[in-house]
Amino acid sequence: MVKNTIYIIDVTNRDGVQTSELGLAKLEKTILNLYLNAMGVFQSEFGFPVTKHETNYLNANLELAEIGALKHIRLGGWLRAMKVDVEESFRLLPKLKHVNLSISTSRQMLKGKFGGKFSWADIINMTCEAVDAAREHGAESIGANAEDASRTELERLIEFAEAAKRHGADRIRYCDTLGYDDPFTIYERVKALAEAVNVPIELHCHNDLGMAVACSVAGARAAIDAGVDAYVNTTVNGLGERAGNADLVSTILAIKKSSGFEHKYHLQDMDLSYAWRICKYASLSFRVPIPINQPAVGDNAFAHESGIHADGALKDSRNYELYHYTEVGRGHIEHIETGRLITAGEYSGIKGFKNVAGKYELEFRDEEEAREILELVRYANVHTQKPVTEDEMKFIAKYPEQARKVMSVQP
Ligand SMILES: [Zn+2]
Repeated sequence: MVKNTIYIIDVTNRDGVQTSELGLAKLEKTILNLYLNAMGVFQSEFGFPVTKHETNYLNANLELAEIGALKHIRLGGWLRAMKVDVEESFRLLPKLKHVNLSISTSRQMLKGKFGGKFSWADIINMTCEAVDAAREHGAESIGANAEDASRTELERLIEFAEAAKRHGADRIRYCDTLGYDDPFTIYERVKALAEAVNVPIELHCHNDLGMAVACSVAGARAAIDAGVDAYVNTTVNGLGERAGNADLVSTILAIKKSSGFEHKYHLQDMDLSYAWRICKYASLSFRVPIPINQPAVGDNAFAHESGIHADGALKDSRNYELYHYTEVGRGHIEHIETGRLITAGEYSGIKGFKNVAGKYELEFRDEEEAREILELVRYANVHTQKPVTEDEMKFIAKYPEQARKVMSVQP
């Protein structure tokens, strides 16, 4: 066993939601944070601190962390590596503790995106200034993010990482923004970078060539082999810009179960039994179905039909299944009401609401409290524009104050 650890930083609430035509309501982002926390994910990149419609949601989630509802998970904000954005972030979110400071580093972006406005020296200076500012505001962890790292010369990446580290950055995010790397190139480049700078490396890979998970684990392995910790960015169901990011559950499984990683590389403690729940919830919230062949949670992930496979799986599941379905939270029977159904929504009354709450075993102190929660549940339905789920209702009932804040979005 190699001594360093691989951590998971899920970026669904940042990269997932910036996907074209996809988005999440702030309540849905909050529920995802709760699920990620329950799974043991190290950090959730929970949003954009300088984006005004995020402010209430972000502050409410920081409160949830403070009161122990988001107990272990870190909540990290994504912002541009600019002093002005750092200042604004901490002004809007005084309790913010973890940040990722992003800037483009490739020649393509310097020329094609910034139009030559910034020199390479400017990029380094802006990053260092932003890191300094975040430290001054009491940030507990700072990631310096090289956007388009896979198209940036290694010497420049090393220079970027050294400068950021010198100013106190805790890790460097290597972004394969366009999914350009393959597992071999990312291994070589990340290993060289980590060896040169001796700083923990965060892998952020995209799936344009179908290799996001493969590149993520290869990059993580490179960091560990170089003697530093690795952090892998994932999204639930792999949703993200264009062809998406590394899928959360697949990435965890790849590290835990593949022949080259199992018992050799150490993944932080994770509870995969939440896999089914979080993937279904993300699918429902994004309104994007889970492909039938998605690892672990797709309809066919444990289905067998052909004679030899069915016979083999029945004799011993290990014949044709690499891991057991119960490990990823499957195997239960889901109830679908086929008779009378009372739901709770934007025009619900107290009787119907109590019927639904009773099914979820929710209890209220008195009539007043029941009516208060009903009012919030009505707003939740208006807010998400979909039926309020059991876990959403339980969250609202347990943390009404934060639920109200999360749903308060006013232009
Ligand atoms: Zn991305």
